[in-house]
Order: sequence, then structure tokens, then C-alpha cells
Amino acid sequence: MKCPFCGHGDTQVVETRISEDGDFVRRRRQCGACDKRFTTYERPEVTFPAVVKKDGRRADFDAAKVRASMALALRKRPVSIEQIDNALLRIEQKLLASGLREIESNKLGELVMRELKRLDKVAYVRFASVYRSFEDVDEFRQLLRDI
Ligand SMILES: [Zn+2]
Repeated sequence: MKCPFCGHGDTQVVETRISEDGDFVRRRRQCGACDKRFTTYERPEVTFPAVVKKDGRRADFDAAKVRASMALALRKRPVSIEQIDNALLRIEQKLLASGLREIESNKLGELVMRELKRLDKVAYVRFASVYRSFEDVDEFRQLLRDI
């Protein structure tokens, strides 16, 4: 791999570490010309299922978008960024484990709701009330009773 500092082609791996959860390999490399060190990360290449919207259009799964909607629901709630990250990770793992090539947007919404329910009830109701179009008041009451 080329040195990002001087562009020299000869860099050596000086250290290899596997992340705590085994999700990636971290390598420290050193340039043979300028001696500067840099880090590379190696992760498996994965493909998430495409998200099928209500009108039938397909879009790439966008983790940043999911995170943004979760953060919005969790605004001013006592939930750390790390907890949101972990929840997002669980959603991603479920998507990958499903082996699906596409997923309906409302199914993805259900996954998000399930995670929010675990994190914070207020955020869950916020998200659910926006996300779900309630048929009637009873349905909404049922939801409130469930939590
Ligand atoms: Zn260099």
C-alpha cells in the first residue's frame, strides 16, 4: 500500500491487531522512505438489502439516515451516542443475518422501533407516532398499553 504522506510504494506492516469484538483488523504501517506511520482497517465487504419504499422505489440502505431518525426521536433523552451506535449495529446485523436482498421500508421501521423501545420509551412513542399511521385511537392506545 502506498504511503499517504509521500506516495512511496513500499510500506511495511509493523503491527496487526484484531478489534475487541473481532469485527475488523487494524494494521499499523510504516513507510520505507519517510518513516511515517499510518493505520489501515480491514473489514469484510457486506451488502445490505435494498430498502423498498411504499411507492415501490428502491434505495440503498443508509445507516446515516437511520441513525439521524433515531437521534431525532431520542432528542434530549438520556441515551448516549454509544447506545445509539450499538442499537444501529444490532439493526445492521439483523439485516445482514436476514440474508434478504431487499426489505420493505416499514419492516426496517419496525426494527428501528424495536431498538428504540429498548432504549427509551419516550423516543419509541415519538418515533412510532410519526412512523405508523394509526388506523384509529384504539390502536394507539394499545401501543401505549404495550409499553
Ligand atoms: Zn512515506
